[in-house]
Amino acid sequence: MTTLLESYAAGHWFRASDEGEPLLDATTGEEVARISARGLDYAAMVNHARSVGGPAVRALTFHQRAKLIKTLAQYLNEHKPELYDLSVRTGATTRDTAVDVDGGIGTLFSFASKGVRELPNDTIAFDGNLETLGKHGTFVGQHVYTSRPGVTVQINAFNFPVWGMLEKLAPAFLAGLPSIVKPGSQTAYLTERTVRLIIASGILPEGAVQLVSGSAGSLLDELGVHDSVAFTGSAHTAGILRRHPNVLDGGVHLGVEADSLNCSVLGPDVQSGDPEFDLFVKGVVTEMTVKAGQKCTAIRRVIVPAAVASSVSDALAARLATITVGDPRDPDVRMGALASLGQRDEVRKAVEALRSEAELVFGDPSRSMGDARGAFLSPLLLRARPGAVQPHDVEPFGPVSTVLTYDTLDEAVTLAARGKGSLVGSVVTHDGAVARHLVLGLAPWHGRILVLDRDDAKESTGHGSPLPMLVHGGPGRAGGGEELGGVRGVLGHMQRTAIQASPDQLTAITGRWTPGARRLAPSEHPFRYSLAQLQVGHSITTEGRTVTLDDIEHFAEFTGDHFYAHTDAEAAARNPLFGGIVAHGYLVVSLAAGLFVDPAPGPVLANFGVDGLRFLTPVKVGDTISVQLTVKQITPRNSADYGEVRWDAVVTNQDGSPVATYDVLTLVAKS
Ligand code: NDP
Repeated sequence: MTTLLESYAAGHWFRASDEGEPLLDATTGEEVARISARGLDYAAMVNHARSVGGPAVRALTFHQRAKLIKTLAQYLNEHKPELYDLSVRTGATTRDTAVDVDGGIGTLFSFASKGVRELPNDTIAFDGNLETLGKHGTFVGQHVYTSRPGVTVQINAFNFPVWGMLEKLAPAFLAGLPSIVKPGSQTAYLTERTVRLIIASGILPEGAVQLVSGSAGSLLDELGVHDSVAFTGSAHTAGILRRHPNVLDGGVHLGVEADSLNCSVLGPDVQSGDPEFDLFVKGVVTEMTVKAGQKCTAIRRVIVPAAVASSVSDALAARLATITVGDPRDPDVRMGALASLGQRDEVRKAVEALRSEAELVFGDPSRSMGDARGAFLSPLLLRARPGAVQPHDVEPFGPVSTVLTYDTLDEAVTLAARGKGSLVGSVVTHDGAVARHLVLGLAPWHGRILVLDRDDAKESTGHGSPLPMLVHGGPGRAGGGEELGGVRGVLGHMQRTAIQASPDQLTAITGRWTPGARRLAPSEHPFRYSLAQLQVGHSITTEGRTVTLDDIEHFAEFTGDHFYAHTDAEAAARNPLFGGIVAHGYLVVSLAAGLFVDPAPGPVLANFGVDGLRFLTPVKVGDTISVQLTVKQITPRNSADYGEVRWDAVVTNQDGSPVATYDVLTLVAKS
C-alpha cells in the first residue's frame, strides 16, 4: 500500500477521507503515491492564511523576511538528496532535477539577496520620487507599496514540482503574503515532500505556507478582494479560472502563465561553419530534450532562413541522434520519460496534428523505447510546409520542434508573431543590425528575448532558463502574466497607493524624512550620534565658505581637471550657460563635505556613495556656499553592528539658491 499524500491545512497535516487516485512512476508505471483532497476544508485554509499567516509575515520587515528565505534556502540545500531521489520518479534525469530543485533553491537565494539590497528594512516600499503638488511645498505626493491583507493561491503545472512552487513562494513571502500551494497532481509527491521539509524546519511563520494535495475544489470560491491566484498550466484551465465569478466580479487578481509556442530565430548572416550556427543547433536540441521538452519555455518553432533550412535540419537531426533516451537513473541517459502515459498520448496527438502540414525529419512518435510501462518518446523534429498554420497553434508539450523558413527579416518577425504571444524568444546572430531588427520586431510578442552569439555564449544561461532577476511571463497566448523579475515580482503582489499630504505627515507615515518637513536640532553634531541615537529629521546647517579663484585653480591643478569653464576666462565667458569661470561641481561637493563633516573618530564608519547628485546653479568666484544636512532615512542591518544612514544634502549660495542637491550614504555604528 503506497502513501496517500496529505495536505497541510490550518496548521495540521490533513489526510483525505478516501483512498485517492494513484500517481504512477513515469518510467516504471509503479504506483508512487495516491492523491486526494476529499474532505479538505478550503474555507478554513483561507481563514488560517488571513488570520494567522498574513499577520505573522506582515509583522516582519522586508529584510527579516529575506533572512528567513535565505535560511530556508540553506535548509533545503542540505536536504537535496532526498528530493533528487524522489524526482527521478517523475521521469527526470539528474540534469532535469538540477533545473527543478537547484533552480528553485537558487531562486530563494536570489530573492533573499534582492530583498536586503533593494528593499528597505521596513514594511513599506517607495515607488518613484516625491511629487510637489503645491506652490509653497506644503502639499506633496508620494507613491508607496504596502502589503495586502490577503492570501495568494499558487496553482502550478506538473512539470516543475519544486521550482514552480519556490519561484512563486519567494516573491509572495517577501511581499508579506501567505501562500496556499496547489501543485499539479501528477508530480505532487515531490512538492509534498518539499513542503514537509519547509514545515518541519519551522523557519517560516505558521500559516505562511499551506498545501493542497489534490483538487483545488472550492478554493477559489473562498477568495475575495486582496487575494490573488498565480496559475501556471494549460490555456484550457486558465480559461476556466478566468471565468470564475470571484475573478470576474469579486476582485480576485489572476496571473496566468499558459501555453507558449516559443521560437528561436537564426539570423540571415549565419552560415554553416559559423560559431552561431552551432550555438543555434545546440540551443534547439537542449530545449527539445531537457525535461523531455516539458518546459513552458522550450523552443517549439525553429525559424531559419530558407537558404540554410536543409543544413539546419540535417545538423539538428545529427545532434538529436546522439541523445540517449531511457531510464533517468542511468547516468548515460540524456533524456528521461514524459511525466505520464497520458501526457505522452497528448504529445502524440499534437504531433499528428502537426504532421498534417509538416514532414517528420527526425524520430518516430510510435516507436516504444525503454521500459514499455514508462512514458518514453523519442525527440521529434518536423519541417513545416509553406503556409503551415498548425505549428503556430498546437503546443506539443514534449520533445518536439518544427522548422519554419523565412526569406526576409520582416517575414521572420511575422512568423514569430503568429505564436500570438510567447514567454521567450531567442535570436542567434552576430550582426548588430539584424539583432536590432529582430529584437524590436519580436519584443511586443515576448516577455524575454535572448540574443545569442559567440561573445555571450560561454556565459549565456540559455534560451529556456527563467532567471529570478528577469521577468518570466509573456503577452497574449502566454497568459499575460508576469512573475520573477527581481523586486518587480515582489511589488507586483503589493498595493500601490498615492499618498497626498504635508511633508510632516508624509515623514510620519513613511518613516523617511520628506523635503519641507520639520527639522530637529540635535544638541551635538549628528556625526557624534550612534544609529540608536540618531533620529530622522536631525539636521545641521553649516557655516558659509567663500569660493575663490585660487580654490578653483588649485583644484584644477591638483586633480588635473583643466576643463576650460574652470580655467580659461575667455573661453568660459563665451559659454552660454556660465558666462565666466565657474567652480568644478566636484569642488563644490568636496567643499560641502569639508563644511558638514565632523572629523573626530566616532560612530560614522564610512561614506559609501551619493545618490541623485544634481548641480543646479553655477558657483562663481566670490560666491559663498553652505550646506544643510538632514537625516533622511535610517536602515539598521539585521546581521551587522552598523546600519545605513541616508542624509539629505542641500548646498545653497549666498542668495539661498540651491547649488547642488544629493543624498549622502553612510554606514553608522549601532551603538
Ligand atoms: P493543467 O492546466 O491541466 O493543470 C495545471 C494546474 O491547474 C494543476 O495544478 C491542475 O491540478 C490545476 N487545475 C486543473 N483544473 C483546475 C480547475 N478547474 N481549478 C483549479 N485548478 C485546476 O495543466 P497540466 O499541468 O496538467 O498540463 C497540461 C498541459 O498544459 C500540458 O500538456 C501543456 O500543454 C500545458 N502546460 C503549459 C505550460 C506552460 O507554461 N506553457 C506549463 C505546464 C503545462 P491537477 O493537476 O490536480 O488537475
